[in-house]
Amino acid sequence: RGGQAQRVIPFAQPGNLTRVLAIASGKGGVGKSSVTVNLALALAAQGRSVGILDADIYGHSIPDLLGLGDARPTVVDDMIMPVPAVGGLRVISIGMLKPSRDQVVAWRGPILDRALTQLLADVYWGDLDYLLLDLPPGTGDVAMSLGQKIPTSEVIVVTTPQTAASEVAERAGTMAHIMEQRVLGVVENMSWLETTCPHCSETHRLELFGSGGGTVVAEALTDRLVYEVPLLAQIPFDETLLAGGDTGRPIVQTHPEHPAAQAMVALAGEV
Ligand code: ADP
Repeated sequence: RGGQAQRVIPFAQPGNLTRVLAIASGKGGVGKSSVTVNLALALAAQGRSVGILDADIYGHSIPDLLGLGDARPTVVDDMIMPVPAVGGLRVISIGMLKPSRDQVVAWRGPILDRALTQLLADVYWGDLDYLLLDLPPGTGDVAMSLGQKIPTSEVIVVTTPQTAASEVAERAGTMAHIMEQRVLGVVENMSWLETTCPHCSETHRLELFGSGGGTVVAEALTDRLVYEVPLLAQIPFDETLLAGGDTGRPIVQTHPEHPAAQAMVALAGEV
C-alpha cells in the first residue's frame, strides 16, 4: 500500500524547475481566485506552461471562473490527468474530488492533507514552468500543509485597499514565513474604479474600498520578514472582470486592453 511517505511530489524534488506560487489572502472575496486565473493566463501568454491547483476548499471557484462546468479529470495508468482549459492551462480543483457538485467539503486536517498530497503527487502535471495554487483564505491547514510539502513554494498575498483588511492579509504572509516559504509580494485588488465625469468628461479614480491597504501589508511584511516584500500590482475594479467571473471568461483572455487585464499582465512580468 502506498503510504504518504512513498508518495513523491515532483515539485519538492531537488532540481525540479517548476515555480510553485501559492496565492493567499487573509479573507474570502478579495479576488484571490480571479488573480490566480488571470495571472495564469498572462503567464501562459508569455509562452510558459502553467498549471492551476485549486485548493480553496471553501470556494473552489476556479472551474467556474474558467468556464469548465462539471469537467472531471480522467485517469490514465493510475495518473490523474488535469482538465485542459483556455490558454493551454492544466487545471485540477479539490472540488473535482467530490462525488457531486453540491456536496460540501468538510474535510479537516489529515484528510485535507492527503487530498493535497494526491493532487500534487498523483496528477500528471507534465513539465510545468509554473504551478499556481489557489489557497483557502486565512492561515489554515492547507497553507501549512503546502509549506511542509513544498518549502520552495513562494507566496503572493492578495488584499483589498481597505486598511482594515490588511491585518488579516499580513497574517497570511507571516504564516508563509513561519513555514519558511518566501513571500514574493503583495497584490492589491479592486484598488479603484475609473470613471468619466459626466460634467467635465475628465476621468477620475473612485476609491471604492478605501486606499493604502496594499502598501500597508507590503511594508508590514517587509518589516517583519526582514527582506523586501514589494507591492507587485494594483488591479482596478472592472465590471467586465466581475461579469467574466460569472460567465467563465477571464478578462486577460477576452479584454486584454482593459487596465485590469494589463495590470495582471504586468504582474506576470514581476513574478
Ligand atoms: P476570492 O477568491 O478571494 O474569494 P474571487 O476571485 O472569487 O475572490 O472574487 C470575488 C468576487 O469579486 C467575484 O465575483 C469576482 O468576479 C469579483 N472580482 C474580483 N476581482 C475583481 C475586480 N478587480 N473587479 C471587479 N470584480 C472583481
